[in-house]
Amino acid sequence: MLSLTPSQIEQLITQAQTCYPEECCGLLLGHNKTVREIWPTENTWTLEFSQGMPELLPPNPQAQSRHDRFAIAPTAILKAQKYARTQDLAIIGIYHSHPDHPAIPSEYDRVIAWDIYSYLILSVENQQVTTYRSWQLDGDRQFQEEPIQINS
Ligand SMILES: [Zn+2]
Repeated sequence: MLSLTPSQIEQLITQAQTCYPEECCGLLLGHNKTVREIWPTENTWTLEFSQGMPELLPPNPQAQSRHDRFAIAPTAILKAQKYARTQDLAIIGIYHSHPDHPAIPSEYDRVIAWDIYSYLILSVENQQVTTYRSWQLDGDRQFQEEPIQINS
């Protein structure tokens, strides 16, 4: 179970709608599945990112599209980690949006996922967030949905 506040959800929805039609992404900082801070990051996906993994190329690689791919730069993760430590927090999850797609992880999402994190996905249609769902890898590296709890 992943726990967030209404204002954190509001922040995620605003970011997802602002980035549309590109994917937004960022980190969830907190403790034991309780989110304390949202840490937005830039979507730094480029074609090179998937080059070494041909099976992960987007349907139309020429488009070099952040519409259906996201990447968080390792330097951005390090920066968040450093900050989190000063606040006695840790990175507990990664969120991103799915423009015009359901809030279900793609094969790309699965391959790049770490099993220690929650993966929150927001579905955006016509610039409006319609749903958000959270997922975590199981022992077989398959995503299982985890419930989201909203408490203020
Ligand atoms: Zn995705």
